[in-house]
Amino acid sequence: MRLFDSHCHLDFPAFDADRDDVVARARRAGVERILVPGTEPSTWARTRDVATRYGLEFALGVHPWFLNEIGDLADQLDGAWGVGECGLDRKGDLDEQLAVLRPQLELAADLGLPVVLHCVGRHAELLAELARFSRMPGVLHSYSGPVELVSKYADLGLSFGFGGAVTWPEARKVHARVRAVPQDRLLLESDGPDQARQGRRGGRSEPADIAEIAACIQGLRAA
Ligand SMILES: [Zn+2]
Repeated sequence: MRLFDSHCHLDFPAFDADRDDVVARARRAGVERILVPGTEPSTWARTRDVATRYGLEFALGVHPWFLNEIGDLADQLDGAWGVGECGLDRKGDLDEQLAVLRPQLELAADLGLPVVLHCVGRHAELLAELARFSRMPGVLHSYSGPVELVSKYADLGLSFGFGGAVTWPEARKVHARVRAVPQDRLLLESDGPDQARQGRRGGRSEPADIAEIAACIQGLRAA
């Protein structure tokens, strides 16, 4: 099976000690592609370097937890898969987050690049922003919004990422979302290092987890 980890912060210090082994385990597990999203200007070079070293894809952007000016992002995107990770989070000031998200969406639209979106608890606000564009292809990672909004995001060209949370039996809302997403818009992600699988709460997640996440999603959708 050929697998794609659509969201892993492989450049984070959590992987410094054993990054070679993490990538080797991913390859043995059939994970052929890994997308490494960026988080803030001060670490873009690190994101690019790690992805390039292992022949992986990367995106560059400013994450809502690490608010910053987007600076020369347009000039940095050479070779990048897309723009991101960017988006909105219930944590923090909405207007400040919007001021950083807007230029990133505009840049993605201008350059014809996909976006890697993060959204926690602010889906109405995110959809209102996206409504300014006729299309905004990319991925909404670790989708945590209502199932009713799936078609609205899908109409914009977005896919939906799901990670280790799907393996938790009590995660009924996550399971409902997995079932609501069209098959051709469903992406797997480890969300490494932060989204542990069942029985590993607090542990690190990594791309090799994708095989178990894929099997779990297959089971959920067949049920
Ligand atoms: Zn992320």
